Parts: sequence; structure tokens; C-alpha cells
Amino acid sequence: MPPKAKSDTTSSVSVTNKAGTRTPRSTPGPTSKSPPGTGVQTDVQFVKGVGPRLGAIFSSRGIKTVRDLLFFFPRAYEDRSRLLKIPELKEGEPATMSLTVQSSRMIPTRTGRTFFDVRATDGTGTMNLKWFYLPKGMDKRFTPGTQFLATGTVKLYQGRPEIVHPEITWGSQASTSYTAAPGLPTEGKEQAHVGRVVPVYSELEGIPSRTFRNVLWEAVEKYCRDLPEDLPSRFLERHQLPAISQSVREIHFPPPERTSGSKETAAQEIAALLEFATPAHARLIYDEFLKFEFLVLKQRLQMEKKKAPRIGQQGGTKAVEDLRSRLPFELTGDQLNSVNEILADLAQPHPMNRLIQGDVGSGKTAVALLAAGAVLAEGGQATLMAPTEILAEQHHLGAQRLFGGRLNTALLTGKTTITERRKILERLSSGEPLLLIGTHALIETEVKFAALRLILIDEQQRFGVEQRRTLREKGVYSGLSGTLEYPHSLVLSATPIPRTLALTAYGDLSVSIIKQMPKGRQPIITKVIRGEARAHAYERIREEIRDGHQAYFIFPLVNESEAEGFTHLKSATEEAQHLQAEVFKEFKVALLHGQMKADEKAAVMEAFKRNEYQILVSTTVVEVGVDVPNATVMVIEHSERFGLSQLHQLRGRVGRGSAQSYCFLFTHGKPGQNTEARLEVLERTTDGFQIAEADLEIRGPGDFLGTQQAGALPFKMADLVRDRDWLLKARDDAQELLRQDPDLLRPENQAFRLYLEREGSLQAERLKTS
Ligand code: ADP
Ligand code: MG
Repeated sequence: MPPKAKSDTTSSVSVTNKAGTRTPRSTPGPTSKSPPGTGVQTDVQFVKGVGPRLGAIFSSRGIKTVRDLLFFFPRAYEDRSRLLKIPELKEGEPATMSLTVQSSRMIPTRTGRTFFDVRATDGTGTMNLKWFYLPKGMDKRFTPGTQFLATGTVKLYQGRPEIVHPEITWGSQASTSYTAAPGLPTEGKEQAHVGRVVPVYSELEGIPSRTFRNVLWEAVEKYCRDLPEDLPSRFLERHQLPAISQSVREIHFPPPERTSGSKETAAQEIAALLEFATPAHARLIYDEFLKFEFLVLKQRLQMEKKKAPRIGQQGGTKAVEDLRSRLPFELTGDQLNSVNEILADLAQPHPMNRLIQGDVGSGKTAVALLAAGAVLAEGGQATLMAPTEILAEQHHLGAQRLFGGRLNTALLTGKTTITERRKILERLSSGEPLLLIGTHALIETEVKFAALRLILIDEQQRFGVEQRRTLREKGVYSGLSGTLEYPHSLVLSATPIPRTLALTAYGDLSVSIIKQMPKGRQPIITKVIRGEARAHAYERIREEIRDGHQAYFIFPLVNESEAEGFTHLKSATEEAQHLQAEVFKEFKVALLHGQMKADEKAAVMEAFKRNEYQILVSTTVVEVGVDVPNATVMVIEHSERFGLSQLHQLRGRVGRGSAQSYCFLFTHGKPGQNTEARLEVLERTTDGFQIAEADLEIRGPGDFLGTQQAGALPFKMADLVRDRDWLLKARDDAQELLRQDPDLLRPENQAFRLYLEREGSLQAERLKTS
């Protein structure tokens, strides 16, 4: 996919922008400042020209009030600021002409139907207008001598210009007072349709754009001034941004004085509108960011005010020292920093809310386990939730291996037997200092902790907000003084998140970053493989396996919703057979896919770990989360279908031992093609943060946050990549506001407070990331 926002920017009138294709978020009526049903809260039905039928269509799209309607933005614009003369008309170009009817008639076609034909002139030539479906009563109006404006895309038919189904604006007396565009209306409703750059709206359920233009014109004229100005005026002045009412008005109906100078100025203005680059857009973008940042930062402040048990002084810090000395390796500098940052947080009487970001293999787990060590040493309990059974088991075994039984852990997954489970629940309720490692099984209501003080979440992007919250709730308890105490929380992510995203989506988290890889790791050699080169890659893989190593072959999902569709499964299965029968006859090839039962999967994985298979063909739905240091080759088929960060993640499955590892990105495209060029980023760098930045530019934020979280970002206009500068400004301003007037009591901040009272809780609910 090409860069998001920029792809929408050509001056062609048929291009759509992002706002027009979305439904505005609805605003809660009852809590509004103005009584329901007045001002911008007026039911959309009561806007002139709407009525019950259109009202129902709007309503089904979430457009219920005038306010919603005002935020139903055009999907495109059309330059109708100048009239063209008939000799100027060109095939395929949009045009508006001032015409007089010469004659009109119904013409039969060869297929037995008829069409309506009007011959008209503007004094410089003649042209035809045709209707195959004639609006009722339309034919009666085209009596000879009648004047009108016609707009549409010109076609040349046998050398004569014509327009099929033109848009007609009636009753426009040739007005010569309008200098920029003589003949165009300067007042009345016609202004909505001609004499300017006009908006083009999505045609919902066959309702023509013109109808929407009429309705929006009414709404803008009558109600725009009622839109409440939420933002403190000093911020608007600081950034020279227009008021909300002016901004909304200009996005619908760009002022003619800005666009009617020449064809070029109009084209420039349209380009700016489609790029969201006008002052009006800037205002709305900044508006979204400021409100968002204020809420995120405020939430963070509130969390910082909550109570949590202090951990460290009662032996916790010493226990961490002790555990650390038992590790079979030295922690890297970044790991040490993270541990220290965590200990500093735990020592506070407020809940820690921290994210550790680091590439796959950077050693996040060891850091998390050390944090648990501090809690257990002081008699508390901790829990570590991982997205798959394989990962949970691996963490459980790893904890034993790393600390030689000095960390008291138990494992709870869907596989845990009933008796074992009962025992674990008893240990939990007895208050035994225990780190319970597990999967979603941890969230179930029966799992109750007597003293849960620390929540650890691995691969946090794989969990929903609700799941994380439920787990956290298990650690909320009433302290000695009766105040609520909250557990500390540490989440791990192997998907490096670009700074801008971390600022927003995770703005309420502190972040520790692990960039250094453990010593002795060699950077993985990555190659994009096309066409002929595949044979060479196979040879390279053969050599690796002859040297005693192993290889992964990964197949993509064609798309998310397909989950593991049949065709897809077939391709992986066929490929496994092909590799076994044709390419790597001398080795053993195993297949792992999402439709296998859990124990089948585990059996295959175990066998691969024991090197009973040298090649593992797998689909990505299967979490290849197991540590197999002997695997040195990662082959990814159809790599062009993946996001860069995802590829980087997969690549991280190799290079876990000290041997040189390889990643081959098979692709069927040609060099230099856009989608392929981005793969080369992976050849150049192994820095997950750089890759994440590149990915964000290319694919937008969805890939990082998971669909769930990306959907929760309340941005309708703003784009985290394109509008990064506005984000940073908004963040500074939000910080300033929180510092100077956190409760928004000053008169100049009253409007902002009213906004928060109106909508704040709704938004805040959606923002909670922890
Ligand atoms: P992550 O969860 O960040 O992907 P892990 O915590 O699973 O990484 O660590 C990957 C492997 O590296 C594990 O086998 C772990 O024991 C090992 N490891 C962690 N830290 C170090 C270190 N400082 N030096 C050497 N090996 C380490
Ligand atoms: Mg991990």
C-alpha cells in the first residue's frame, strides 16, 4: 500500500479523501451544554431539505444531529469557479456552462427505449445534454429560451460536445457583477453548486451528491456559528488557527475568494483540501490531538496519584541482586537500566505503569522475571500472561532454568489438568509468594489472588484493553487505611513502537527501551530473493542444514479476516510436500498450521526442537515463539504481503544462538517496484525502531497497535505520520494546560472543561491502555 495520506493527493476531482469515507463519531446529546434538540444538537431531520427519508439514511450512518452532519465532510471537490465557453470544452474534462435552451425532444434508441435530449447554446456554439433516466418533470422545464447552468463531464459525440446526466442549476440570471466568474450566481442556494470550488459527498444509497450539497449548505449557513469553540483561544492564537465554525465551513465550502483566481489556484486549493493541508484542516487536526493528549496525560496523572504497595526495601532489591548473580549471563547495559527503572518505580507508593520495548531476543523476559523476584521476596504474588501456551510454557521453563529454582513459579494454561489447577488456586488463595505464569486462562474469574502486586504482560499488543484491565483488577484491594491499592504493571512488547505512537497510544505509560542485543549475537544476514536467486538460496540453506542447523519456512495469511483459509493452508501443505519431495529430499520436513490440535502442534514443535526435523514449514497463525537456537535460517514466502515490523519479528526467531543466521525474503515482484523496495529496508538494518518508523510511514499505525487499539484512536482527521508536528505541539500545550490549570477552573479554559464534561468520559474510557 502506498503512503496513506499522500496517496490521496492529486488534483483530480474524482479523488476521495479520508474524511468523506468515514462516519462521524456521534456526540452524546443529553449531557450536552445546550438542551437537546437545539443548536447543533438539533435532530438532523429538521435541517431544510432532509426530511424523514434522508433523515433515516443519515441516522443509519450515525449522523443524528446537525453537529454530526457538519462533520460529514466531502470526499472530493470540483472546480466550478469559472464558466467555460462551448469551444473550450475538452473530452473527459469537467465543466460548467451558462446555457439557453434551443430545443428538446425524446429520442428513441435502437433497443426500443428512449432518451431525453436538449440542444442548448451559449452564443459561442451548441451542445447536447442527454438523460437516459429523466427526473420527474424535468422535461417540462426545458422550454426554448430557458436559461440554466449545466455541470458535468464533457464527452465528444461525433465531434459535438455533450454531457450525459448533467447537473442543472436553474434560475441563475446572468449576473455581471461577479467579476471572477460572470454569469454565476452570487447569492442564494445556487452558490452551493456553482461559482466556486464545490464539495462532492459520498453518494449514500443513491442520493446524489447535489442533494447533500444542498443540505450541507443549509446546515452550514444556519448552524455553523453555533458550533461551540472548545479550545482556549490562546492556543489558537499561538498557532494561528481559525475558529471551529470557520474551519468546518471552509472544509465544506472553500471561500470563493481563495479559489477563483485561476484554474491553477483552484487546483492548488483542491490539492490542499485533499491533503488536509488547509488552515481549516490544521485546526481540526490540532483540535483532535490536543483533546486526546490532555486526556491521556490526565489519566497518567490520576494513575500516579493512586496508591500501590512500595516494594524494594523489605528485601526485594536484595533479592533482585541475588537472582541476577545466578543468571548464566551478564545483563546487557539496557537490561540493567530497565531493571533499575523498574526498581525505582516499585519503590514509589504509586502503581508502576511501564512498557519495556525491545526486539525479539533482546532479553525482556529476564528483566520481567527479576521484577517478579522483588515482589515475591516481600511476600507478594505476581502473574505473567503470555499470548500462547507455547510461550507460557517457555517462560515457565526459562524461569526455572535461569534461576535454578530460586523463583517460585507455577503454570496455568488451558492444558492444565483440573487437579493441578485446583492446587494452584489453593496456593494463590493461601497467599503463597508465587509467580503464576499462564495464558488467557489467568483472566478467568475463578483465578483469584490473595496478594497480587505485579502484573506482567508479554507481547502486550496481542491482548485487548479489556483483558489487560481484567487481569489488573485482580490486584486491586482495600489497603489498611481503607484506600484502594493497585498492582504494579509491566508490559512487554517486541514490536518497537515509533516515538509518535508511543506518545499517543501509550501516552500513559513510562517506557524502557532495550536496544542492545546480548553479547555474542551476530546480526542476521538478510536478503530479498527474486526469481532465479531462489535456487541459490536453496543451496545456501542446504549448506546450513548440512552444518547441523535448521530452517523455518513461513507462509503468510493472505489477509487477516481470511484467518487460515483453505487455499492458504493448501499452499503451505503443498509447499511442505514440494520441499520434501523435490528440494530437500535428504532432510526431514515438518508442517505446522493453525488447524492442528494444540497437542499435535506441541508434538511437532518438540520434535523440531530435538532436530528430528531440519525444516519447519509453518503458517504465521502458528506462533513460532519457541526458542530454537539451532535454527539459523528464516525463509519467508510472499514476504511482500507482510508489514516490515512483522517480518522483523519473524526474522527474530533466528539468530538466537551464537552462529551466523540468515533471513531470505522470497518475493515474486520485480526489483524497484514500490512494494518490493520497502523490503530492502530489512536488508539494511536490524534496528527494530528504524524499521518501525519506516513501516509507520508506509502502512499507518494499525500494524503496531493491533486492530483493536488502532480502532480506539479517536482520530477522524489527524494522521499520526502526516501530522506528527501538530501532535508534538498539541502535546506541549496539553502539558502546559495540565501544569497551569489541571482542573480547568480558569475562565479562559472553561470551554475546554465544558467539552470534557460533554464528551471526556466517553473518550477517556476508550483511551485506557493499561
Ligand atoms: P525477548 O523476550 O526479548 O524476545 P528473551 O527474554 O526470550 O527475549 O531472551 C532471548 C534469549 O536470550 C533467552 O534464551 C534468554 O535467556 C537469553 N538472554 C537474555 N538476556 C541475555 C543476556 N544478557 N546475555 C545472553 N543471553 C541472554
Ligand atoms: Mg519474549
